Amino acid sequence: EKAEWQKLKNAQSVSKDGKSVKIAANIGTPNDVKAVTDAGAEAVGLFRTEFLYMNSDKLPSEDDQFMDYKQVLEAMKGAPVVIRTMDIGGDKHLPYLKLPEEMNPFLGYRAIRISLDRQNIFRTQLRALIRASKYGELRIMFPMIATVDEFIAAKNIFLEEKAKLVKAGVAVAKEIKLGMMVEVPATAVFADQFAKQVDFFSIGTNDLIQYTFAADRGNEHVAYLYQPYNPALLRLIKHVIDAAHKEGKIAAMCGEMAGDQIAVPLLLGMGLDEYSMSATSVLRVRHQMKQLDSNKWAQVAMQAVQNCQTNQEVKDLVEGQLKDSV
Ligand code: PEP
Ligand code: MG
Repeated sequence: EKAEWQKLKNAQSVSKDGKSVKIAANIGTPNDVKAVTDAGAEAVGLFRTEFLYMNSDKLPSEDDQFMDYKQVLEAMKGAPVVIRTMDIGGDKHLPYLKLPEEMNPFLGYRAIRISLDRQNIFRTQLRALIRASKYGELRIMFPMIATVDEFIAAKNIFLEEKAKLVKAGVAVAKEIKLGMMVEVPATAVFADQFAKQVDFFSIGTNDLIQYTFAADRGNEHVAYLYQPYNPALLRLIKHVIDAAHKEGKIAAMCGEMAGDQIAVPLLLGMGLDEYSMSATSVLRVRHQMKQLDSNKWAQVAMQAVQNCQTNQEVKDLVEGQLKDSV
């Protein structure tokens, strides 16, 4: 089986009926890029930059960050690279950055909330990114956006830093797409309005599931509430994809769910454009995609969203359909 997947390394990702999708990989450091190109992923769909901060004993300098971003962009040779700005807080801490003690860190001071508050850190990262942009196809993504104001504030800071660099004569890419993670239920519900502001969405299901079912993603006592096939969650995802498409924008997913073999057929059926996963899953999913008929799965997804009541019912429905014919 694995040998057959290997043959797909240089293939495009398409469904059985010829619908093109993009299969991308997630990375945490520049060292991870080799696995991405080895697997034949078509893009880096999520670069979690917080590891650059966590693997350091002080805030990484603009130049240090620039070198890392440039390295990844060059290695991907013009394929899209989605770099997410710092997602510290929640369960990720920095010894050198004093964060408040919080009762509910996952509902607290984290990600874009820190970036908009501690703008020196954010602006340094944005400058490093903008300077690296000319070495490939850079896209910048903001984590944990909850409101339209936050996205606009982050975008304005980006535009300010870009304008300053351009004025100083620094070469930057003609276009740098700006997107956001959809991982807070409010943004999924309000995706039709967010879609007017962004260039792309990337659905972060690890957090979106946690917040939708109000269940800490690391707490084993409530692990049963991690329900990727629950129709309540599927409705949110479907809404996000439809909202993106209505505005001509890309709908991607970079949570664990994007590489899940029960979820992938449903996501194809709902029209998801890009699937970003661990590099080790890329060829398996590309192989699965080749066997799926997008029209058939559009109907199954519709049935799941409209008629099923539970995670298990959806799972049974998909497994039954996968067995029948893919
Ligand atoms: C997510 O929340 O789904 C996601 C991809 O981000 P992280 O796992 O880094 O929180
Ligand atoms: Mg997240």
